[in-house]
Amino acid sequence: MKRRDFLKMGVIGTTSAFIGLESVAAAAKKKPGGAFTFPAPVYRTLGRTGLKISIVSFGAMLTPEPEVIRVAFENGVNYVDTARRYMGGRNEEIVARALKGLHNKVYVATKIVSSSRSKEDIIGDVETSLKTLERDHIDVIQLHSLTGRERIFEPEMREALVKLRQQGKVRFFGVTTHTNETEVVNALVDDPDRFFDMALVKYNFRTDDELKKAIARAAQAGIGIVAMKTQAGGYKTDALGPISPHQAALKWVIQDKNITAAIPGMRDMGHLRENIAVMGMRLTLADSLILRCYGAAIACRYCHICGACEKTCPRGVAISVVNRSLMYAEAYRSEALARSTYREIPAYASASACLECGRCTARCVNGLDISAKMARARETLA
Ligand code: SF4
Ligand code: SF4
Repeated sequence: MKRRDFLKMGVIGTTSAFIGLESVAAAAKKKPGGAFTFPAPVYRTLGRTGLKISIVSFGAMLTPEPEVIRVAFENGVNYVDTARRYMGGRNEEIVARALKGLHNKVYVATKIVSSSRSKEDIIGDVETSLKTLERDHIDVIQLHSLTGRERIFEPEMREALVKLRQQGKVRFFGVTTHTNETEVVNALVDDPDRFFDMALVKYNFRTDDELKKAIARAAQAGIGIVAMKTQAGGYKTDALGPISPHQAALKWVIQDKNITAAIPGMRDMGHLRENIAVMGMRLTLADSLILRCYGAAIACRYCHICGACEKTCPRGVAISVVNRSLMYAEAYRSEALARSTYREIPAYASASACLECGRCTARCVNGLDISAKMARARETLA
């Protein structure tokens, strides 16, 4: 829902932040040409944490209006995923506004800044998030964007998290991973201490069998798995005509009982309605056909962010992160997220390093044109 639509509905500009929510909720239940009724929410247990969370939960990364998140909460969604880094640091504030008065009814997951490695920095990050979220605890604190097993075992990080838990500031520990997820998830299972309780993992209908097996192992071991990037980019495609593949993609994810929940990013009421309707639906043959067509249509664009190409680049360009940034710009249409992700890449590993390279020798295991993608990233993000 656009800001001007809220203004028309009298939501913004009232003395109470949530006067007008009823009209927002009413709007969410309707769509042109028909009524929309929120489905009965469905819950699953997040591994050994015991938290019962809605199988469609809220990825707040792209949501500018707290009212959209609030409507989801009022209709049974009870888990929200955020990070301070999102929206130039404003995303946790937006979630805090949506949470007003609901602190005991909704579980909040946020993330430690990727570059924070020392005990002081990790504790400082959590303290800042607590203040911004206006909470006395965070339900799930996650190490952000792991690309391998090493960070899982860092003693200083573990010491910091244990201290925060002893102080009652965090309840459960998790990690997030977009790249090399199979190694990360297997490492959580193989960790003799089983230190981490959950993982937020890129998982969609393009996911390979090795990751599916790792996820099954994690579920068996009581490690909760939450799925992100469930739409394989969510690229717009003309190949399907007016048919949207988004519900089919989400159904595909949550029909896997080893996944506790999916957190699709929801920007507005349209996204909320489309995603939330999937709770209780089954994956049909028609959905499988739609996904097959959609997969074929995006094959030349969708980067699996697997990082397999990076060892074939002599300059060590972080191709998977560059491509993820580009996906945020081109598919998510979020320039801010794209730029902030791209800025985290050191200059020597950014797409600009390609300018010094005579001929691209990097090879994509899925046949993407890496050189063209790096050039687009330079044009769009550098
Ligand atoms: S052009 Fe290709 S091989 Fe050269 S630095 Fe860029 S990605 Fe690496
Ligand atoms: S460009 Fe290809 S090999 Fe590289 S991360 Fe993407 S899908 Fe993997």
